[in-house]
Amino acid sequence: MSFSFAKGCEASAASSAMHTSEFQDFSLYAEDRPQEECGVFGIYAPGVDVARRTYFGIFALQHRGQESAGIAVSDGSQMRLHTDMGLVSQIFTQDTLDGMPGFISVGHNRYSTTGSSIACNTQPLLIDSSDGVLALAHNGNLVNASTQRAELEAQGVEFQTTMDTEVMGRLLETFSDRSLEEALLEMMRHIHGAYSLVMMTHDTLIAMRDPNGVRPLCLGQLSESEGGGWVVASETCALNVAGAEFVREIEPGEILFINKDGLESVHFKEKLNIREDRPALCVFEFIYLARPDSMLLGTNVHHARRRMGEILARQAPCEADIVIGVPDSGLPAAIGYATGSGIPYQEGLIKNRYIQRTFIQPDQTQRELGVRMKLTPLKDVLEGKRVVVVEDSIVRGTTTKRIVQMIRDAGATEVHLRISSPPYQWPCFYGIDTASRKDLIAFQRSVEEIRQYNGADSLSYISMENLIEAVGQPKSVFCRACFDGEYPISIPHDVKYTKLLLGEDNAGQSNGLVSSGDPGPESESDLRELVGETAGA
Ligand code: SF4
Repeated sequence: MSFSFAKGCEASAASSAMHTSEFQDFSLYAEDRPQEECGVFGIYAPGVDVARRTYFGIFALQHRGQESAGIAVSDGSQMRLHTDMGLVSQIFTQDTLDGMPGFISVGHNRYSTTGSSIACNTQPLLIDSSDGVLALAHNGNLVNASTQRAELEAQGVEFQTTMDTEVMGRLLETFSDRSLEEALLEMMRHIHGAYSLVMMTHDTLIAMRDPNGVRPLCLGQLSESEGGGWVVASETCALNVAGAEFVREIEPGEILFINKDGLESVHFKEKLNIREDRPALCVFEFIYLARPDSMLLGTNVHHARRRMGEILARQAPCEADIVIGVPDSGLPAAIGYATGSGIPYQEGLIKNRYIQRTFIQPDQTQRELGVRMKLTPLKDVLEGKRVVVVEDSIVRGTTTKRIVQMIRDAGATEVHLRISSPPYQWPCFYGIDTASRKDLIAFQRSVEEIRQYNGADSLSYISMENLIEAVGQPKSVFCRACFDGEYPISIPHDVKYTKLLLGEDNAGQSNGLVSSGDPGPESESDLRELVGETAGA
């Protein structure tokens, strides 16, 4: 067990030797999707085993991050913390949880979007605040973390992790002469980007959401018989397993303080008289990120995905014998496409449900086998058939190409791709780990060029208008930037340039089209111009 009262890296340094290893993610070789960011969970419930409820909460949020997890618990005088690399079920034991008594708890699942996948970047993070030690768990990504970090370092602040979460923590420390509410409001004035935060002091649970509400965060309540305690979580699916009923979504720019005096709500924009930021929930939560049994903006995610398929069948009909989906997130849209088209739905691809993460690196042959580690075609279903394959998104295109080939190899006579999101053309800066723009297959390529690359007989993406119809909310309440380049929170130019243009080194993961002479970025100056014109410099 590793309980620690220290900060940053020290907070997890006592954990097992697993910390020195980096996880190898087989899904890297098997999936070509944006990776989830993080899951956050918090509970204030005197008389309840809050450590166990938090365990089940972050267990339900495991899909939002599988690199590391942690739980912090306060009993009013002591704060106990346990974090480690790996899955929730690997990190916590009965003994661990038994050793964490208290009435407030905060939990976190991490997928590293900023900062490396190393032990000192696990969360919750412990920091000093005006109310003593504060445990902090974050989902999202700040767009001005590097400038804020540089300013703090210039003031002599030393950082212990590479996470932008620590930037928020260090900002709070610098405002520790103010009340916690004032310090949080001041921190919000300094930071820009996506953040759903769950925090606790020794006696108060705090939940806050950025003024645009990019990442989800909801509020639930335990039953009267359990004392009516409060629960906050990234998704409603985590409320259910913690025994809480959904109350409402936490509003963009809202801060909730929950303690023995009850629940108090503070609004950032009202308090500081800030201009109205438009709501901008990530629409990709509906397409792929959120768990299907979660509710977002009053709509069930599974239902929305089925609707995407139904509407796609109307928009892009096809002469075919069967409809199949790419497991798991493509399945609801495939069922919807079958319903909308009248073509029978079948299971044509089987997913190995037990591939998660491993410390063992695959050898070169295994890498080349790639997707077969995760998906297996059902020859009996596919042979001799004209097949519609429904997938939720295409990012680099590498996996989709393999899937099309796999279905052909199993004997399909035609393969028609239908995608339940529009072409993914712009990178995300708000907490979803995507490729740089040059590696996105839809960047500067027509649908016909993408079809040819994937080797499909036909290809159609759902239109933005039809996607919006499927989720049942006005277009104006969403961030849709990865599809239309309209970033709701402006991106500092240095950050934008890094990912939109030259990008990180994605060697070995590129779809290879740019280097093979296909249409792509002409020159750095052309691209700079493009960014200035279309992404709002
Ligand atoms: Fe979501 Fe795309 Fe916006 Fe990122 S850019 S927050 S993935 S809609």
